[in-house]
Amino acid sequence: MDTSADHHIHSTYNDHSDSDLTIRNVIDIAENRGLRKIAFTEHVRRTSDWIPKYLAEIQIYSKNSSLEIISGFEAKILSNGSIDCPYEYQSKYFLIASFHTIFGNKECWINALKSAIRDPTVDVIGHLAPEPGFKISAPEIDSIAEEIVQNQKVVELNSKYRRPPLDWITSFKGRGVKFHLGSDAHSLRSVGCFENINHLIAAADRSV
Ligand SMILES: [Zn+2]
Ligand SMILES: [Zn+2]
Repeated sequence: MDTSADHHIHSTYNDHSDSDLTIRNVIDIAENRGLRKIAFTEHVRRTSDWIPKYLAEIQIYSKNSSLEIISGFEAKILSNGSIDCPYEYQSKYFLIASFHTIFGNKECWINALKSAIRDPTVDVIGHLAPEPGFKISAPEIDSIAEEIVQNQKVVELNSKYRRPPLDWITSFKGRGVKFHLGSDAHSLRSVGCFENINHLIAAADRSV
């Protein structure tokens, strides 16, 4: 696993990150910590009106940086399987699709997940884990893995939520799923920090 790349970082463009998590400060700290690549993936909704300013700011500060910097978004998977992101941005930028609400219905959850996986505009499935209210069986995990491989999506190892569960990573790995790292940083101290998921990284790196 490439621990010098953090594919999931937030900023002050949402209302719940630390106030010093500016685009510029994130880039500075990522450079200081020896990262090679970062992705800004701010929470977006179809109604978000700050997007042009956010993208312009990333572009300005990227010019003078040695890092590879990706502009993107994290968007919610809705219960009908669609993604809560304005389509024009969804199709042009790096996109993490994540569950942010409890559906309380396993069938609905699996169908929505598979729709998101089949969505050609989605690049990554973020902090994937089953809802606390239901269990996903081994054959169901396998069928999810199959969709992920077929549709060439990446599964994120998320150090904020320590997800996906270890047994999911093991079965995904066995099916050929690709992984990358995301800190899901809402504060500067979390940028590029993955030490708390060393066990998940080891499972994803293990040869099968
Ligand atoms: Zn999220
Ligand atoms: Zn996030």
